Amino acid sequence: MLIKDIDKLQSTKNFIKNLSYDEIKDYFNKNDQQTFRADQLYLDLYSRRCNSFDEILTLPKNLRDKLTEDFHFYSLEINNVRYSSDGSVKFLFKLTDGNYVEAVFMPWYEADSETIERATLCISSMAGCPVKCTFCATGSMGKIRNLTTAEIVDQVLLASDYMKSDINNIVFMGMGEPLLNYHNVAKSISIFTDSRSSWLSRRKITLSTVGIPVKIKALASHPTPVKLALSLHATTNDVRNQIIPVLKNIPLEDIFSAVEYFYRKTKMPITYEYIPFAGLNDTLADAKRLAKISRRVPSRVNLIPYNDISFTNPQGFAKDLKPTPIEEVHDFAKHIRDFGGWVTVRDTFGQDIEAACGQLALSQ
Ligand code: SAH
Ligand code: SF4
Repeated sequence: MLIKDIDKLQSTKNFIKNLSYDEIKDYFNKNDQQTFRADQLYLDLYSRRCNSFDEILTLPKNLRDKLTEDFHFYSLEINNVRYSSDGSVKFLFKLTDGNYVEAVFMPWYEADSETIERATLCISSMAGCPVKCTFCATGSMGKIRNLTTAEIVDQVLLASDYMKSDINNIVFMGMGEPLLNYHNVAKSISIFTDSRSSWLSRRKITLSTVGIPVKIKALASHPTPVKLALSLHATTNDVRNQIIPVLKNIPLEDIFSAVEYFYRKTKMPITYEYIPFAGLNDTLADAKRLAKISRRVPSRVNLIPYNDISFTNPQGFAKDLKPTPIEEVHDFAKHIRDFGGWVTVRDTFGQDIEAACGQLALSQ
């Protein structure tokens, strides 16, 4: 289903998917309706997946009209869809203010069949990103704005509807730093994991962060905390400050303390994401430190091959970043293993449709 003219929606009305279950309940109560109406609407939105208020036939016509008067239904539209030869599908969404974000659908097929066995959707939490990591296409855009809860939730609903497939896993690894949009991201997690709709278990959601200690601790106290992936990319403060200069006031030790706190509270293992850059963070000493870091709490190191972002015309330090050749990435993984760390090398999806985050949106 394709929505047209999303940018012509009136800005005065709210979007229904910005509301938590309790807020929907309050809305109905204020309009002299009983609480079971909130349950009906909630299930129609997230379990039956209605595509408009008109489709919500469990509610009487006068209530459907009232909802249409008070709320917009979708907060973004599919603007472009690109298919990769490896099966992944990249969605470009247009927001009501004309900005763009993207999400990537990654299917796994049943053996010798075209039936999708399970699918992961990588979603965005911001348009652009203020952290401006030197290696990241989204970072080169700077911050445009946080996404609303509805814009986060609608990426999943629209991609699932378009692909005619359930989404079994959600990863916050698209555009933006989710922990710097904590309020809206936390609310979307509550919607995804709400027991009424039995949409997703919290263990099927992973939030990837560059490491904002106070918000890592907040996530640990969320009613349904999700899995944590930490984008580490360096084993010393000196190197990290070079590749992520915006965070130079946050020492690695503060991040590790927050990660330890997260593990103590949630008992969920951590993933450390690490892009090996030739000659910068891929030495034997790095492998040894990584193994040591990964033993502090149950965790694994996921080595991510660097996706080229030369089309963003990087300058200065960013221009000189070179990927460690893939055979050497595997050697690096072996060293980490030999030092006692648990490590995997990430399969890259969608390289022919620009896999690095932010690329499609940037080209708009
Ligand atoms: N802001 C969050 C989540 C979005 S980025 C974070 O940084 O974790 C998701 C992942 O993509 C991060 O691990 C990030 O380091 C990685 N990434 C960014 N640019 C990349 C590139 N050019 N090549 C490979 N991975 C990249
Ligand atoms: Fe932002 Fe993550 Fe990209 Fe860094 S890697 S600029 S935190 S989206």
